[in-house]
Amino acid sequence: MLANRNSPFRFGAALLPGLPRSAPALLLVLTLSLPACQSPPEAVQPNLIVIFCDDLGYGDLGSFGHPTIRTPNLDRMAREGQKWTHFYSAASVCTPSRAALLTGRLPVRNGMMSPKHRVLFPDSTSGIPEAEVTLAEALRDAGYATACVGKWHLGHLPRFLPTNHGFDSYFGIPYSNDMDQTRKESTRELVKTARVEYWNVPLLRDGEVVERPADQRTITRRYSEEAVRFIRKNRERPFFLYLAHNLPHVPLFASEDFLGASKRGLYGDVVEEIDHGVGQIMQALTDLGIAERSLVVFTSDNGPWLPYKEHGGSAGLLRDGKGTTWEGGMREPTIFWWPGQLESAVVMEMGSTLDLFSTFCEIAGAEVPSDRIMDSYDLSPVLFGSGESPRRSMFFYRESKLYAVRQGEFKAHFITKPVYTGRPETETHHDPPLLYHLGRDPGEQYDVARLHPDVIESIEKLAADHRSDMVLGADRLAQRSTDARR
Ligand code: MG
Repeated sequence: MLANRNSPFRFGAALLPGLPRSAPALLLVLTLSLPACQSPPEAVQPNLIVIFCDDLGYGDLGSFGHPTIRTPNLDRMAREGQKWTHFYSAASVCTPSRAALLTGRLPVRNGMMSPKHRVLFPDSTSGIPEAEVTLAEALRDAGYATACVGKWHLGHLPRFLPTNHGFDSYFGIPYSNDMDQTRKESTRELVKTARVEYWNVPLLRDGEVVERPADQRTITRRYSEEAVRFIRKNRERPFFLYLAHNLPHVPLFASEDFLGASKRGLYGDVVEEIDHGVGQIMQALTDLGIAERSLVVFTSDNGPWLPYKEHGGSAGLLRDGKGTTWEGGMREPTIFWWPGQLESAVVMEMGSTLDLFSTFCEIAGAEVPSDRIMDSYDLSPVLFGSGESPRRSMFFYRESKLYAVRQGEFKAHFITKPVYTGRPETETHHDPPLLYHLGRDPGEQYDVARLHPDVIESIEKLAADHRSDMVLGADRLAQRSTDARR
């Protein structure tokens, strides 16, 4: 039973005899407050919203410890909902991270992690494979209205755009906001005096360019407004909204109302404007009377881009940032908010953006593909207080190599490489691997490999099984994934 014990909603498959067997327990049934003479309870699929930032660090929100960035709306979400402190993206850069969220599969499986290129560029002719099933496709098949607002970065040619991968509509910049550079100076120089015309990035409405260069000074505000419009338009039916902000990826831009507002400087202005948009979304859901049937998840695609100094974020006490497989590269500040439905908590169990696929499908009564290997776990036992997280491990890839593995509280690094700067970096191989206890040493400062040979043996076996499954056992792994979801 997945229902919150304190919820005014009571739901369960037994109450919904007309639903298909695949429909999960979590279709809400409005039962209380209905007089006996009224019509039977109404089954409702909850709305699902992902607010996804770009390069926001683990330490960049007030509720995650930042001393000078104000995020009152996200702090309220964290207080009323669940603040997850061990929640990972599946890659430390944009393209593979987004592909993982939208497919529930590791980027090495879904074709969006290249051994040569970290992310897609405007001259790339590739994109998300047609054969992949996106979360939007799964939810649309279950009756959801779907919208993508913001950064896509899974291919900008028409066949790869959101409207060809499950989204009814798209409004956004199709790749990173520092691409299509018009000046010869380095990006690191240009971001210091950023002007909109330095980056000739297009703004698309569905498949059409509606503005170029996109006016990035107002892009965060316009994304939030677009999100609210979509919510209002679809108030009467279940919807999936994927709001992927281009910021706070460099170059940083904020609208007039926020410029100079934060003690943290321009980076803080940007984060505070994103927070303001989150507040507008929460308010819209509340005003429309649909907040109690809306799950909102806030997280980020990867850690802070540290070489950009003040223009990059902070991973707080976590080590390193974007581009690396240290914790700061892939652990994200994550909040789940669903008024009246979630057990309010600080969750210290593991979760991943990979898991949103199975979790949302469970909640929505949508189908998880059964013909392929999935890397996605249903987190609803934690959300609704009925059990522990089924995610017990995390695999950290850089390009297409397995660099590190977390099992329980321990994380072993087999390979490390310095932070992504745009220049060539050198790998260091570790044998035995570096080993950190993330409970006692979240900053990965104290290598305890010599104290725990048994742990290393266990993680090496897990890594070996994972590698062999990657190569050999599609059917076997598919079965395992199915078992894990039961
Ligand atoms: Mg990013």
